[in-house]
Formats: sequence, C-alpha cells, structure tokens
Amino acid sequence: MSLTFDVRRNPTPASEERRAAIHANPGFGVFFTDHMVRAVWTRSGGWGDGRVEPYGPIQLMPSAAVLHYAQEIFEGLKAYRHADGSVWSFRPEANAERMQRSARRLALPELPTEDFLGSLRALLAVDEPWVPPAGTGETSLYLRPFVFASEAFLGVRPANEVTYCLIASPAGAYFSGGLKPVTLWISQHYARAGAGGTGAAKTGGNYASSLAGQLEGIEHGCDQAVFLDSSTQTYIEELGGMNLFFVTRDNRLVTPELTGTILEGVTRSSILELAKDLGLDPEERRIPIEEWKEGVASGEIREVFACGTAAVVTPVGELRWEGGSAPSTAGESGGEVTNAIRSALLDVQYGRSEDTHGWLTRL
Ligand code: PMP
Repeated sequence: MSLTFDVRRNPTPASEERRAAIHANPGFGVFFTDHMVRAVWTRSGGWGDGRVEPYGPIQLMPSAAVLHYAQEIFEGLKAYRHADGSVWSFRPEANAERMQRSARRLALPELPTEDFLGSLRALLAVDEPWVPPAGTGETSLYLRPFVFASEAFLGVRPANEVTYCLIASPAGAYFSGGLKPVTLWISQHYARAGAGGTGAAKTGGNYASSLAGQLEGIEHGCDQAVFLDSSTQTYIEELGGMNLFFVTRDNRLVTPELTGTILEGVTRSSILELAKDLGLDPEERRIPIEEWKEGVASGEIREVFACGTAAVVTPVGELRWEGGSAPSTAGESGGEVTNAIRSALLDVQYGRSEDTHGWLTRL
C-alpha cells in the first residue's frame, strides 16, 4: 500500500513579499520552503507515519546512528514552472531509482518510486507558490529527498528505524558568478571513492571525502576538483558533484564509463541520449587524465564541460595540477557544443521545446 501524508500546515508561513524577495535572489540552498515531508521506516512495520509538516528542526537522540556511522543517502532534483504556470519535474523516476540503488548499497530500506513521487506531490501541494515564477531565468525549486538512520544506538549494524525527509529550496544559478568556465584542479592526493566502495551511491560520506581535495583545489585558485580512479590515479572519474564530458574534434561526446566509483548522473544519461539528436557520437569509456592534457594541446579536445542537476551544464576552463596546467578551450562562456547541449536540456526542462524523450513528469 502506498504511503499517505497527513498535512499539518505551517501556522506562520513566509509572507508573499518575503517569498518574492527570495525568488528575486534565491542563491542556492540557503532558503527553504514553509514545509517538509517526513516518513518513518521500521524493520517490523515498513514505511509509515507519512506527514507534511512545518519546515523546522528535527529532534534526534545524540546516539542516532547516522551521526556516528553515516548510514545516509540523498537525492537532488528540481521542480520547474512552465509558462502556463504548471509545475514539472525532470525524470524524477530516475532519481527514485537511484535512491533505491543507493539504499541497497548503504543497507537502508528502499522507498518505492510511487512513494518518492507521492512525497514530491505532497510537498508541492502545500508549497507550490515556492516554485519560482516562469520567465525568471534559470530558477527552479530544488528538491532534496534524504534517508537516514534515525535509530538511537551505538554499534555498527543497519538501523532498525530510518527516517525519510524531503525539503525544498528555491534555486537560482548554481554558480554565483553566472555562466563562466570553471577552473579545475586534479586531486592527486585525495580520492572520493574506491573500488567496492560507495562512489556510485549518493551518500554523504562521498561528499565528506571530497572536501580535502576540493579545498586543495581552492588553495590553488581553482573552483572544483577532478577526482581520478583511486587505484591507478590514471583515469578521470568526476567532480565532487558533477559528471564530466569531452567534445572531440570529430564530434564525439566522451564521458567516463560507469565503473562503480562514479555517480550515474541523471543529467549525464540525458546528455548521452540528447547527443544523438545533436549529431554527436556518444562514447562511454575510461579516459586517461593524460588524454585531457594532451588533447587540449593537440586540438583533439574541443570542449570540456561538467553536468549535474544543480548546475545543469557548466563549461570547464583551465585544468591545473601540481606543477602544470592545460589552457581553457571554453572561451568567455563555453564552447558551441556545450552551449547547445545546455540550451537543449533547459528548453525541455522549462517546457520551451517538445519533450520528445518523455522526460517530464507533472507534479
Ligand atoms: N556526480 C556527483 C558526485 C554528484 O553529486 C552529482 C549530483 N547529483 C552528479 C554527479 C550529477 O548527477 P545528476 O545529474 O543526477 O544531478
């Protein structure tokens, strides 16, 4: 039986003026809507206790397992307002399924796809005005579902009580400086994931382990770090929160293959499908980091971009590493292919072009 959500309205919701002010300048991940969704899973009873309640602090025992053993997973997707006022999400079933794969890896219970979608709809039913108005640029309502071990106990074992939450945050452009190529740092001392580990799952630990490499990059004047395969330090994997693509001289669109240590981005798989529409040959394979360095020098690599739900498609500029760098091929605001892919995706998401792949779901 699918989850139902009892609604307890926020008695002090944000005023319309306050919401409008936030929509005018949302930033990313700083403001949250009036409500949140919660459900609880127990080993004996399964999923239940679904509710929509005011956004606010959650009570946890200091011994809650997630705080010690990081048994936690999350997702990230967006709700977009179309010109006719309707609200849509982009491939939310893919996020639901990825959360199920993450759950299996973290020994957490799976939330069925219909309950995942049901929770999005339950939140939107009360917080719909928080989806930014159409025609305000790349604004959306970022949706953050997450599942964590809420049982109070110390000991390394899968929790017998788990909590699902969904919160939402109005989002503007991910990079505050606007669409400008990002400079990347090759993280040679720190890996984010290893063989047999949790790299393919969307779990907090991967992000915690990416921070040192990210900081090292920032210390070297870069925006983000590129992580390599941890066993040979030879092959390109991904960024801390985005997948990578390369456009070659002969119109191939190359991305690192899924080896179990890379997160399978919904944007990544959509771009692989879109490639054919744009006359590009998609290719998934192992890509040595040397191929990037040399490809920029030889002209074999025309463009590099990163992709993910939050930033959509972001041009990649200079690549730096200890003792060297490869120049940008992105110009002022990204190459032709990068921008064509970016526009094609945004046009579908915002309902400006026909959804030929059937990627949109009405919320
Ligand atoms: N890699 C990592 C490590 C990420 O956190 C994300 C963001 N979810 C991505 C790639 C891109 O995934 P998606 O396109 O589904 O947002």
